[in-house]
Amino acid sequence: MLLLTTTTGYQTRAFVQAAEKLGLDVDFGTDRCHVLDDPWQDGALALKFENADEAAGKIVKHAQRRAAHAIVALGDSTPPAAARAAEALGLLFHRPETSDICRNKYRSRQRMQECGLNVPRFTRFSIDADPADIVKLGVAPIGFPCVLKPLALSASCGVIRANNPQEFISAFQQIRALLRSPEVRGRGDEACDYLQVEEYIEGEEIAVECLVDRGRLKVLAIFDKPDPLVGPFFEESIYVTPSRLPRETQASVLQELRRAVQALGLHHGPLHAELRINTRGSWILEVAARSIGGLCSRALRFRAPNRDESISLEELIIRLALGEDVDSIRREEAASGVMMIPVPQAGIFQRVEGLEEASKTPGVEEIIITARPNQKLTPLPRGTSYPGFIFARGSSPELAEQALRGAHQKLRFVLGPALPVIG
Ligand code: ADP
Repeated sequence: MLLLTTTTGYQTRAFVQAAEKLGLDVDFGTDRCHVLDDPWQDGALALKFENADEAAGKIVKHAQRRAAHAIVALGDSTPPAAARAAEALGLLFHRPETSDICRNKYRSRQRMQECGLNVPRFTRFSIDADPADIVKLGVAPIGFPCVLKPLALSASCGVIRANNPQEFISAFQQIRALLRSPEVRGRGDEACDYLQVEEYIEGEEIAVECLVDRGRLKVLAIFDKPDPLVGPFFEESIYVTPSRLPRETQASVLQELRRAVQALGLHHGPLHAELRINTRGSWILEVAARSIGGLCSRALRFRAPNRDESISLEELIIRLALGEDVDSIRREEAASGVMMIPVPQAGIFQRVEGLEEASKTPGVEEIIITARPNQKLTPLPRGTSYPGFIFARGSSPELAEQALRGAHQKLRFVLGPALPVIG
């Protein structure tokens, strides 16, 4: 199996474990410098994912020496290269054009709008534009409140709500600074030249985790997001499944998602979508050609008929990539939830107190603190990672949610001040 990844973190490890369980050898393609940083001591293929054609060429050459039976792409930046390589090698994956469109919030909105889907009104501006001029001319046809966002970042990084001209100008300047920062610029992505402005959509938000199996949508879980997400920043926290939304609402959400799969031409692989629901219908905020991020996949466990052992999301995705029939595999019965622990404030992480007590909260299965001592914690709009994750299961979504909140209240993050950079 070819595993394309930009990180060496927990998510990669979970896929490697699942591949090993299935008896697969894993070859890595990564954008890390494989000479300086060869975390698996595996001589990973060194790839530059922002140049998808070149990266795909290298993958194909590699596969001529060592045949690949499946390709799995982690994160947002690897699917375009994976799609091109898969096409050349005759492996199952999303199509190149689709992977490119899903990577760009402007192009994906355009495509969904052309196909008649319910999407917020949107437009984009060059980051070199003067936001004061934009405001003077009127942010029509968007109006206020609106949401400003980068086209190709994730984890709500740089996504800011503006309720009036002053907030618009400030949000524009913050996103411009983010897109011009060396970490983002270094990716050489043309999407960094623009930011998007969208109509703010009120309503309850959900995330839907799916697979697309040769063009057919298979829904794995609908997660409610019970904490209000009203801005100015949109920090993810609790996800709980099964959804408590009325059945008809769930059905109409899935109907809209099926139309999005068709509009975007998603063919084969994981899909993670975010939607909002209000009296005007279901609104697709995002469809990403990847699985749920961070450690959140641990909130999902699956069962196959006549098998006792549970199946992880990673195993399911690999089985799908191999072309196996995964139709009869279903999520377990229990309600399940995860909290992406919010960054308490900017600072240098020292330690967390109350972990043992929090772990004993009824329903809590695991608390994983991913922040390392002396790691800098950055809140949104610039932050990209959570200090940790809490997982809970219960007989109902209410109980799972209660367990997450109960455990979180017992945790105390001890931070030192973030030191200014002198130079
Ligand atoms: P990312 O890919 O970085 O997560 P999204 O475009 O999915 O960025 O936006 C992140 C979050 O910001 C969404 O989950 C939602 O809560 C909020 N958001 C984004 N766009 C809108 C919008 N048009 N209306 C209301 N909320 C929005």
